[in-house]
Order: sequence, then structure tokens, then C-alpha cells
Amino acid sequence: MRLRTFLCVAALAGLAASSAHAQARPLRPGDAGLLSRGATVEEHIAEAVAKRLTRLSPSVRCGPLGIDVPPGMLVTGITLLPAHGPADYFLLLPQMCNYLAWFRQDPERYDPDACTDAECSKLAASAALALATVSHESYHVLGYRLEKQVECYGMQSIWYVATSLGASVAEGQRIAAYYWRTTYARRQQTTPTYWSADCRDGGKYDLRPASHGWRS
Ligand SMILES: [Zn+2]
Repeated sequence: MRLRTFLCVAALAGLAASSAHAQARPLRPGDAGLLSRGATVEEHIAEAVAKRLTRLSPSVRCGPLGIDVPPGMLVTGITLLPAHGPADYFLLLPQMCNYLAWFRQDPERYDPDACTDAECSKLAASAALALATVSHESYHVLGYRLEKQVECYGMQSIWYVATSLGASVAEGQRIAAYYWRTTYARRQQTTPTYWSADCRDGGKYDLRPASHGWRS
């Protein structure tokens, strides 16, 4: 079977830095160990969000992504799409799962607009990337394959992931706006296949063209 893998990739330099689910069917033999163990608390969090976003029940595991990463790049998640049907699972870089758990404990700590120093902004950027990775991979689970479309849709769903983890809608929108003007904006130069000029209010990839509340 021809297997295609889809990643969430960021440029390192660009960064401010037993389950109740059905058993996922490993698409790579190397993923069997991860998928056969029960989900951790962080993985349950990501699964619950992905389930609500997709209305499917993908398993999510934090662990080795099983790929070679180009120098200078950070791959934060991977979805393997089978030739037919939706993906059963996606994998997240363990540090992304840590940020999901930390965010859930204290969402306000990761509000970028409340930051007054670089260290705080770096934490907020990493948390935003973790939220964006869950929504990005969820759109792959829904079957979308074009990275620039998936990244744009995922960016517009950051607020949803944030509010699912306890943030207010207003903070979720601030995080999405922050991601949009930092990590997303840098993609034009650093990871251009994940960027599109059509990812804008009223653009081809605007999920809610009737609304002008861009990014949410
Ligand atoms: Zn992707």
C-alpha cells in the first residue's frame, strides 16, 4: 500500500523558540508499540480535541515521529493517511504534548498579549504551536492533504483548541492572532509550502467567508 505522510513543520530559527478509544491500526510497523499502549493524560487531551474538531475518533500518541528531520527544521506532528478512508491516528512531538498539558493547567499563562518579556513570549509561541499542531493534524485526519490549505484551516481553528483546553474565547482569538502575525507570517520565507496568500479574510482558504472575524 502506498502510504503518504503529512507533517506539521516549523523552522527552528523562526520559533521564539488504556484507552477507551478503538485501537488504531498502525500504518507503519514502528508505530505499533506507541498505539498499543494506553493514552496518557496529555494524549487523551489531544484526542478529545481532535475528536471534537473532526467528529472522528483518531488516536493521538506522543512519541518519536519516525522520520528524518531536515537540519534547522522542527517537525511537531505527523499524520499518515491511508489510500482510502480517514487516518486512524496522528503522532505529536512529546514537547508539544507537554505544552498542551501545561496550557490546560493555566491557560492565562500562555496569553501572548499579557507577556512583558521575551521568555514569556517564547513560551506563548511554543504553546500556540502545540495548539496549532493539534488542529493542523486534525485537518489531515479529515482528509485534507495540501499543506498550505491544512495549515490555514488549522490556524483558523487554534481558538477552538485553546477554548477546548480551558482558555476564554477572547484569549483563544488572541493566540490565533499572535500565531498569524509571527509563526504563520514567517512561513512565507521559512516553510513556503505551508503558507498561502489565499489564507486571509475573504481568501480562498477562509473557513468562514461570511464573517470578518478573521482567524476565528
Ligand atoms: Zn501537514
